[in-house]
Amino acid sequence: MSPLRIPRRRSCYDPRMPERPRVYKSPALVLRQRKLGDADKILTLYTASEGKIDVVAKGVRKTKSRLAGHVEPLTQATFLLAKGKSLDIVTQVETIESFQGVRDDLDRLSRGLYCAELLDRFTEPHEPSFPLYRLLLDTLRRVARGSDVDTPVRFYEMALLHALGYRPELDVCVACRRALEPLTNYWSAAAGGAVCRQCRMGADAARSLSVNGLKLLRLLLHGRFDDVARVSIAPPLADELERAMREYVRWVLERDVRSAGFIDTVRQRRPARARAPQAPT
Ligand SMILES: [Zn+2]
Repeated sequence: MSPLRIPRRRSCYDPRMPERPRVYKSPALVLRQRKLGDADKILTLYTASEGKIDVVAKGVRKTKSRLAGHVEPLTQATFLLAKGKSLDIVTQVETIESFQGVRDDLDRLSRGLYCAELLDRFTEPHEPSFPLYRLLLDTLRRVARGSDVDTPVRFYEMALLHALGYRPELDVCVACRRALEPLTNYWSAAAGGAVCRQCRMGADAARSLSVNGLKLLRLLLHGRFDDVARVSIAPPLADELERAMREYVRWVLERDVRSAGFIDTVRQRRPARARAPQAPT
């Protein structure tokens, strides 16, 4: 009788196999999804370990799919993925945080989708960054629980720009490099930040930047979220910050952010909590 031969199993972590294992697991946030064929979807995930990737969720549009319900945009879930020829395939998924409360509220949903779209637009596939994953996750939690849904978004925009090397200049005039005086200055996305009065004409900076606007932009850049959240931001100042940051983001991306229009639509339909007029008592 010949000795029993046990075939040697190739472990996923065999050091002789430098390529990625055939099956791998990572927590991820669903940035967006689109239909594929009759029953499938392509998901764009921001994974904690691989950065942004497109994956296929097979059969997810069938009623009995085990994956459906775990792959909605903004969901945080643990994905088990199998290497595919072009795109990797979702084999299992388990929700960690559904953010259902964000998806059920148009004010919160519009902000959440805007943040997800920014991360999608600003990043290239397979460039992992755990801090960016964490930043979006923290922001969704802030959007989910706060009464002010816009300040978390401003903080996110600034943190994202900073992390990717696009921080605007807020200390000195971008044109003459002199320190900015505590007066009304100007804002030029094209020039890369704040512009002083004297340089305003040459810098194509039509938008004024108030003293408080500049102070808050600096706090968004240098402060922690809790520092910013403690400031009571009046609606005109919130609008000023939003316009300045959107203009800057659009300039860096060289395109419009689709979900910004969704925020505007939601606001027109139903004024956001923070901006609703106080009823007389
Ligand atoms: Zn200047």
